[in-house]
Amino acid sequence: MSNNQKNTTTTGVLSARSAKAPFERTTIERRALRADDILIDIKFSGVCHSDIHSAYDEWGGGIFPMVPGHEIAGVVEAVGDNVTKFAVGDHVGVGCFVDSCGECEYCQSGEEQYCTKGVINTYNSIDYDGKPTYGGYSQKIVVKESFVVRIPDSLGLDVAAPLLCAGITTYSPLKKWNAGSGKKVAIVGVGGLGHVAVQFAHGMGAEVTALSQGMSKKDEAIKLGADHYYATSDPNTFKELAGRFDLILNTVSANLDVDAYLSMLRVDGTLVNVGAPAEADKYHVFSLIMGRRSIAGSLVGGIRETQEMLDFAAEHGVKPMIETIRADQINEAYERVLRSDVRYRFVIDISTM
Ligand code: NAP
Ligand code: ZN
Repeated sequence: MSNNQKNTTTTGVLSARSAKAPFERTTIERRALRADDILIDIKFSGVCHSDIHSAYDEWGGGIFPMVPGHEIAGVVEAVGDNVTKFAVGDHVGVGCFVDSCGECEYCQSGEEQYCTKGVINTYNSIDYDGKPTYGGYSQKIVVKESFVVRIPDSLGLDVAAPLLCAGITTYSPLKKWNAGSGKKVAIVGVGGLGHVAVQFAHGMGAEVTALSQGMSKKDEAIKLGADHYYATSDPNTFKELAGRFDLILNTVSANLDVDAYLSMLRVDGTLVNVGAPAEADKYHVFSLIMGRRSIAGSLVGGIRETQEMLDFAAEHGVKPMIETIRADQINEAYERVLRSDVRYRFVIDISTM
């Protein structure tokens, strides 16, 4: 290991000083490499709607200054003395979390996101060493090797980046609730998560319906693998699709009329929420009782499953549609995400930072 990696690494970041403050270019220090750490030269960082919920402190408890970003794709620049899985030059990714206790039943079963001691998020968390974590809107990051995944050669680092959150967050529940041949699956919201979910559900063999507010995303959704497409602004959609789906995956960042969505489930169907609006949802229990239906939620996915998802994406041609932006376009990009005006994921080209 060169002298350099024994010291901290100064790295450029995009940082928000306080909730809703515009991002500014500044620098932070990444820790000196521990024996099981990897230093990653970040090439691309996706812009997830969770970054906006967090940077605007909509969920509360935000730690500022904040450097968001949990869709990180880059190249290994240096490795700690005991690293065995990765070598300098490898293409790697980091998703929504960077450490967990490693001992509880969920860590042991590869579902670190549900760690009972509390998973350490890639940003907006206090790490086990007591210091805040800073995410991927950054030139470099230091991460423990067991929280780093390998990006297959056939995936470009730019298109791979959104898979680290949008990809795993949709792949995991689709698998868990058995999206596959013979299953009718609806994806609600064709945004960053939703447009990837359509591709995964199609890749798993399900009959896929995309539900979007309007008709403008129809052609693209069909190209991505949707068999059907409906606008939820049309009340007839809910009548026509009553009792239709085995599984509805809700990726919407705002509150919906939950009863209306439950009415589209078959008996024993499940509405799984991954969209995370700040306000509580409301529904009538009769919407569940009358069809033995379930409401569920799902949080990202474990490291092992994230690697499986990347390999599945490479094999099945699942490819996020991205709009690459310069670092100085980040504030404008947030405004556009809030208007659902992105097709379908902004990815920051970190070389512009
Ligand atoms: P996004 O790109 O903004 O997509 C959300 C989509 O929801 C929009 O494109 C839009 O789709 C639809 N939408 C937005 N406002 C709406 C409204 N008022 N009514 C109906 N539909 C609306 O966001 P994203 O990055 O995909 O993230 C989506 C949500 O998932 C966020 O809340 C995020 O925090 C959450 N998330 C959760 C997890 C998890 O682990 N559970 C992980 C990542 C993200 P149409 O234009 O097609 O209608
Ligand atoms: Zn995310």
